Amino acid sequence: MEKTLLYNAGVVTMDAERHQYNHGAILIEDDRIVKIGQNDPMLLSLANEPDLQRIDLQDRWILPGLVNTHVHLSQQLGRGLGDDVNLLTWLHERTWPYESSMTEEDSYVSSLLCGLELIRSGVTCFAEPGGQFVNGMGRAVTELGIRGMLARSTMDMGEGLPEVWQENTDEALEIQIANYEKWHGKADNRIQVWFGLRTIFNNSDELIIRTKELADKYKVGVHMHVAEIKEEVEFAQATRGATTVTHLRNLGVLDKNFLAVHTVWLTDDEIRMFADHDVKVSHNPAAAMRVLGFAKVPEMMDAGICVTIGTDGAPSNNRMTLIDEMWVTSLIHKGRLLDPTVMPAENILAMVTCDGARALMLEDEIGSLEPGKKADLVVVNPNTATMLPMHDPIANMVTSMRTENIESVMADGRWLMRDKEILVVNEQEILIEAKKRAAGIRERAGIKLPNRFNVVD
Ligand SMILES: [Zn+2]
Repeated sequence: MEKTLLYNAGVVTMDAERHQYNHGAILIEDDRIVKIGQNDPMLLSLANEPDLQRIDLQDRWILPGLVNTHVHLSQQLGRGLGDDVNLLTWLHERTWPYESSMTEEDSYVSSLLCGLELIRSGVTCFAEPGGQFVNGMGRAVTELGIRGMLARSTMDMGEGLPEVWQENTDEALEIQIANYEKWHGKADNRIQVWFGLRTIFNNSDELIIRTKELADKYKVGVHMHVAEIKEEVEFAQATRGATTVTHLRNLGVLDKNFLAVHTVWLTDDEIRMFADHDVKVSHNPAAAMRVLGFAKVPEMMDAGICVTIGTDGAPSNNRMTLIDEMWVTSLIHKGRLLDPTVMPAENILAMVTCDGARALMLEDEIGSLEPGKKADLVVVNPNTATMLPMHDPIANMVTSMRTENIESVMADGRWLMRDKEILVVNEQEILIEAKKRAAGIRERAGIKLPNRFNVVD
């Protein structure tokens, strides 16, 4: 058995009583936390413990590993392809051609590159809404050491879909069942396979209903983009006779294992529907600001809805770091409501830790630092010109912490990054391979970007 004591650290537990030890320590045995408490008594009680690795963190802070509830691993190599264009151009001329030109190996490298950004920004667990190649993502997650709820992008209808993506409802479901059987529970149970629905534009009612039935049968979640843009709720109204959320309620699929992403265009009634059915929400503030609009997040949280945070994909946000998303979340709702008291820092930190874990139905395993839970944690070094002083540590972690302040990351009791060095994969090799593959996909997809300046190539 491997025993590690992390001591001389501030510890933000995010447990139900929100214990915070300004001078704390954590004892870890193998993959689990066994004890948390004040530094000096913990050190004293373990003074004669043999075979204990003691790590002095010298006044750094420990947080639970962050949970990103919506990140497109397979889009990482498309970063920079979606800037300053409208949604239809973004979708039909950039993202779809790019994604549909990828191979499984491209998806694997894209996932590795995205995983590096996730680890460097303190994420130990994420939910993926669906690339095409769960095999590529699964291989990457196995190597990266993080936790992933993987899904396949699933569409059985819609105009303008690339030919390689056209499939019927049965095929769409069968491929997902095969993915579940191959990958669910793999990598020491760090991988789960969820069922994906892309959007109501591309999903028939039959697919939506049968997807929910399968998710219930296999005891996993459904991950769907919901009420993203105004045109979507108008499309639902015109083709199904009700706006997106009301229609999903009418189909009977709103439930505690339903993760709804973006949820920008909801009526007050629809917010109540989410609350009544314990639907989980992933708020992606930066992507929403770019093209979708303001989600009514404070209103949803007041209604008791579990709202979490995601980064979306690289072509929609460019920054796959929850650290930046926390900051953006803290700002935009204060600005929209002209009320600086909404979205306090403690609530935002909960969105990316304990509430994120609850949205992924992993609240018994991760999301807070407590005896019995998995050792998924982040070591923050606040000793930079950009983060000091620490008058109000929790506010600082939301408003002035940068990705650079994330020093070490542990998942399942294993260091993924230590003192900013990635230990699980060869970072330099991945960066080189990512550049090569990104250029190859773009060439195959025939995507041309207009020059912004008087370019000499
Ligand atoms: Zn998305």
